[in-house]
Amino acid sequence: MNIDTSILHGAAARDEATGALSIPIYPASTYHQKDVSVRQEYEYGRSGNPTRKALEDTLASLEGGEKAYAFSSGMSAIHAAVTAFVKAGDHIVATRDIYGGTYRFLTGFMPKFGVSYTFADTTDARKTEAAIRPNTRILFLESPSNPLLKITDLDAHAALARKHGLISMIDNTFLSPYFMRPLEHGIDLSIHSATKFLGGHSDLIAGAVIAKSVEHGMAVHYVQNTCGAVLSPENSWLLMRGIKTLAPRMIRQQETAVMVADWLSNQPWVKTAYYPGLSSHPGREILARQASGTGCVVSFEIDTLARLDSILASVKILTVAVSLGGVESILSYPAKMSHAAMPPSVRNDLGITDTLLRLSVGLEAPDDIIADLAGQ
Ligand code: PLP
Repeated sequence: MNIDTSILHGAAARDEATGALSIPIYPASTYHQKDVSVRQEYEYGRSGNPTRKALEDTLASLEGGEKAYAFSSGMSAIHAAVTAFVKAGDHIVATRDIYGGTYRFLTGFMPKFGVSYTFADTTDARKTEAAIRPNTRILFLESPSNPLLKITDLDAHAALARKHGLISMIDNTFLSPYFMRPLEHGIDLSIHSATKFLGGHSDLIAGAVIAKSVEHGMAVHYVQNTCGAVLSPENSWLLMRGIKTLAPRMIRQQETAVMVADWLSNQPWVKTAYYPGLSSHPGREILARQASGTGCVVSFEIDTLARLDSILASVKILTVAVSLGGVESILSYPAKMSHAAMPPSVRNDLGITDTLLRLSVGLEAPDDIIADLAGQ
């Protein structure tokens, strides 16, 4: 089934009991047990909830996973995926220019539990391999990366993980299952901040982990049940509702992103426009092999701080805010928002400078978005 159709008619298309086209919200925290010596599917809301299960089945079907789990945020999904597979003394190799919250998690949080890390430029699989040590357990990828939209070759990295006996995982937030299905390229786990494109309406915080194998899925479920950062039934319902329009949102937002990126790359005040759909983007060919789209996020480096201030102060249609992936366009300032947790020296080394802006393109008319950016 084509993904456009399976989004609507896949795993949890309708409520089996009533035929309702919207899965009911089951707020129950606990369930009557007919026989305490027999395990039931639903016993306690943290361990399992029918609304959340319908969402999780939908997520698994979208990316061809055996199992999927929904979390209370993208960060709790990352926490579960990582902690399911490491113990004290282990090591993680991760993409260098990664979301700032993941950077904080890997550099500040995990070392408290004896887990070390090395960042690698994963645009080159040889550099990734050079960072692998005997105690490396996880290869953590983000592609396109946030905010510079660098592309990592999934097939090459899945092969690398198999060769070295690592669990491979990727943050697939930016392209969403609509444009990229990493498990089909041999990656073990796909992770989402479902707050972004999956939800699509800037009205919930959620995360997801989709596992290629039952075994890896069960390891993630163990953390979900043990640590308890589950998505509520209400937000599970809201996320399923958002997912129903994933296809038309991604298609239209991407069309506009292509136009905005083209326009930006021709402005004299734009030093560099970063968008994997531009012919100048170095990862374009790899992306074309592993994804069906180039996404809806464009970053751009501008000439002066004064102009940056003026853009942030003058835009009226673009919302100046943290986050991305909503139907309304969001303009972010990574240095002070998504990547504030990264020390300035690390940011600057990576190219996440004080004059870099990131635009998540929404559903507004392309001309209005461009006029807003031009009006500084
Ligand atoms: N991964 C990426 C690529 C993100 O951009 C974000 C948030 O901005 C996260 C993970 C964290 O997700 P959440 O804010 O839902 O915890």
